[in-house]
Amino acid sequence: FAANQERAAPLLKKLTADGIGNIIDGRIVPSSSGEVFETTSPIDGTVLAQVARGTKEDIDKAAKAAQRAFKDWRDMAPATRKKLLHRVADAIGDNADDIAVLECIDTGQAHRFMAKAAIRGAENFRFYADKCLEARDGLNMPADEHWNVSTRVPIGPVGVITPWNTPFMLSTWKIAPALAAGCTVVLKPAEWSPVTADLLAKLAKQAGLPDGVLNTVHGFGEESGKALTEHPAIKAIAFVGESATGSAIMAQGAPTLKRVHFELGGKNPVIVFDDADLDRALDAVVFMIYSLNGERCTSSSRLLVQASIADTFIEKLTARVQALKVGHPLDPRTEVGPLIHERHHAKVCSYFDIARQDGATIAVGGKPYDGPGGGHYVQPTLVTGAHKDMRVAQEEVFGPFLTVIPFGNEAEAIEIANAVQYGLTGYVWTNDVGRALRVADALEAGMIWLNSENVRHLPTPFGGMKASGIGRDGGDYSFDFYMETKHVSLAR
Ligand code: NAD
Repeated sequence: FAANQERAAPLLKKLTADGIGNIIDGRIVPSSSGEVFETTSPIDGTVLAQVARGTKEDIDKAAKAAQRAFKDWRDMAPATRKKLLHRVADAIGDNADDIAVLECIDTGQAHRFMAKAAIRGAENFRFYADKCLEARDGLNMPADEHWNVSTRVPIGPVGVITPWNTPFMLSTWKIAPALAAGCTVVLKPAEWSPVTADLLAKLAKQAGLPDGVLNTVHGFGEESGKALTEHPAIKAIAFVGESATGSAIMAQGAPTLKRVHFELGGKNPVIVFDDADLDRALDAVVFMIYSLNGERCTSSSRLLVQASIADTFIEKLTARVQALKVGHPLDPRTEVGPLIHERHHAKVCSYFDIARQDGATIAVGGKPYDGPGGGHYVQPTLVTGAHKDMRVAQEEVFGPFLTVIPFGNEAEAIEIANAVQYGLTGYVWTNDVGRALRVADALEAGMIWLNSENVRHLPTPFGGMKASGIGRDGGDYSFDFYMETKHVSLAR
């Protein structure tokens, strides 16, 4: 704990003194309006920095910088681009400990999870650095009359809009493939967590990324975010955030025919059958909703447990949830830290009353928590006695809040699992292989994990169905979004 605090102290001093500017064409600049907003820590409300409040004019400058930088970046030899992106990964790796503590203080996420998040950011860059060499690959489809080949070309400058949960890792997940594809980028980070997003562009510049290739404009969604989605020089928008914001962005981007990629909300089921390895399942159920403060799109926020084992499973689960350690995010013992913002805290707390009003039982938690610094803490909460139509079984709470729904048989489990508007992930625990595959096939979700928690393998497709998203990230799937496929036909 003390070592993390010691590491954080000088970083925070510098952050407060310097403030956070936009980064346009390789230069740190204030907002064109001169306006700033404050970013505060969810731990104790301390003002961490004054942040440039980006305007439409700032977005215009950044989009034009990205447009100017595009041709050289697109035409750079893939091997050179690969080398540069590896250098960005090195820079992230070298600064991983600083990134981790800053992320904890800016977002309230526990250090035990954030230490790995920065390293995953570096891995994202390394993985896509290596893929630079194959980004333009296509197919050869000879026919009687013609030689036919396809190739891929980068779509142009793109906009990336990110949320406040694990903001550093998430921005690398979007930006690394865009850069590897040959696109230039304007990033609009979430206004509640601008600190580490700012670091990414600075580290990229130090690593030698040419000016204008990665630009950052801070500010509010309805202002700089909206302007980015409407700018004609921006050819595509990669967005991670709430489903309702995705709808708004689709409408805003329609006049300029934006290509969109959406990673949106979730209300993901974890289904535990009575023949599962119940100890492993219990670990996974706890981890997948109470780690990262439950502020995680892939969290399993609905536990569907077979009625024959429900009582014993819930009893063990109750003991585990009661034992969770809520505390200061920099304390390595902390499992659950403060929530990102007072507005989000109020939203999560409102579901304690909603659960009670709907007639469910709060088995554990259900109240704000008086944690160190007096920040936005809540008690890890377990709600039992719920049924599928209750609001706590339908709506994304995005906190350490788990709703338990019992089921009788496989068909009922599938019906409950699919009875929500979302479709991001599903988790299934059973030792019957046939059932595992049947249920995986029937679940309306983009990603299913059988007998395991969410583990990311970078070449695999990541994304959601229904209100959880449009498009897939990962491996070559990201290139489908950031590139155009071009067909060339030559008469024999
Ligand atoms: P949000 O939609 O409120 O904001 C996300 C970003 O969009 C912010 O940068 C915000 O400024 C910007 N924005 C808001 N309105 C905009 C507009 N009209 N035009 C352009 N930009 C606009 O989401 P949030 O509260 O920051 O993040 C939490 C949400 O993100 C949850 O729903 C969560 O499930 C989702 N999420 C999904 C994934 C996934 O992979 N599916 C990953 C992480 C988070």
